[in-house]
Amino acid sequence: MATVMDGPVVIVGGGVAGLVSAQLLQEAGAKVVVIERNDQVGGLARSMRYDGFSFDVGPHRFHTENPNVKAYLDRVLKGDATLFPRLSEVYFQGSYYRWPLHPKNLLQLPLPLALRSGVDLAINGFKEYELDTFEQYVLKQYGPTLYEHFFRGYSEKFLGIHPRETHPDWAKVGINRAIIDDKLQMQNLAQLAKSTLTQFNKVEIPFMYPTEGMQQAWQKVSAIIRAKGGRILTGTKARLEGKNGKIEHVWAGEERITPSMVIWTAPITLAMKQLNLEIPDLPYLGLLLYNVCVESDVPRKYQWCYYGEDDLIFNRISIPKFFSPATVPNAKAAGCVWS
Ligand SMILES: Cc1cc2nc3c(=O)[nH]c(=O)nc-3n(C[C@H](O)[C@H](O)[C@H](O)COP(=O)(O)OP(=O)(O)OC[C@H]3O[C@@H](n4cnc5c(N)ncnc54)[C@H](O)[C@@H]3O)c2cc1C
Repeated sequence: MATVMDGPVVIVGGGVAGLVSAQLLQEAGAKVVVIERNDQVGGLARSMRYDGFSFDVGPHRFHTENPNVKAYLDRVLKGDATLFPRLSEVYFQGSYYRWPLHPKNLLQLPLPLALRSGVDLAINGFKEYELDTFEQYVLKQYGPTLYEHFFRGYSEKFLGIHPRETHPDWAKVGINRAIIDDKLQMQNLAQLAKSTLTQFNKVEIPFMYPTEGMQQAWQKVSAIIRAKGGRILTGTKARLEGKNGKIEHVWAGEERITPSMVIWTAPITLAMKQLNLEIPDLPYLGLLLYNVCVESDVPRKYQWCYYGEDDLIFNRISIPKFFSPATVPNAKAAGCVWS
């Protein structure tokens, strides 16, 4: 029986999953061939250059508390990474608020809203929530007033579905992680006051970003794989050939490869189609990104700002120079508008 040490492991897709799998399998002794359809690797986490500006496919950043992932990033990026604190904001009724929402933000809100939010937080700890939807999760953390004004609109606008139909993990990985960053428990007024007055247990988890843009990370990983004899075929579409759902060969353009194992990181629907298997009905979220090169500097210093209001056709703006200044030419700025 073939093992991963015999024939090559064919990895379809040269995005993060494909490249990192290839590198780690190679370190474990396997021969690897990565097949990537695009001319450059990186997939959704790639970056592109125009006129000295570097844009990711919507700015990306590394953020992990997992020591293995952190050690891997340190090993690959070595000194070529910048570390920075979160600088995020949320735009609401003509004003900008720090994100994640901080208890101090309540003092910035229009008075009636601040009072209602304060009362919500005071009584929220006594309420029961199911925690089975995004809506329930946020209601428990922040209460109905902040949910209604900050979270409902943005989430619905961004995902295109009501927060009642959205899985609670969307809140856990996004909003809840943000709350943990500040170690704030905004579930009752006493905790709120304590946090506000003392900045109790404030912990900043820095983000990591390759100095010259995300592509630098994937160039480094590619160089490591190639230096050890691995193949990375870019501009090449992969096609699976097999019988009864079992893969026998992988075509990389005109080349037929007999793999010991295949790792498929491209859309799963494509693999099912190529193997004549039933194609799962998976919904996808479309996203339009406008990369804008700006001659002058920007008025606000945020990495990201969330715009939840219905009359604005976009939902986020991110500013790459606050990830790494080396992504823009001197004295210029750039914005990425998400729609
Ligand atoms: C706007 C945006 C911002 C994000 N920000 C972050 C962030 O800050 N931090 C974070 O951790 N994650 C972020 N993510 C998520 C992250 O980008 C993805 O989880 C990650 O890039 C997925 O990597 P992947 O390798 O699984 O898939 P992909 O990147 O989709 O890679 C699949 C690859 O397969 C290739 N392919 C497809 N068909 C074929 C074929 N027939 N033959 C050969 N190759 C093929 C594609 O070209 C692609 O390169 C963000 C995502 C988006 C969209």
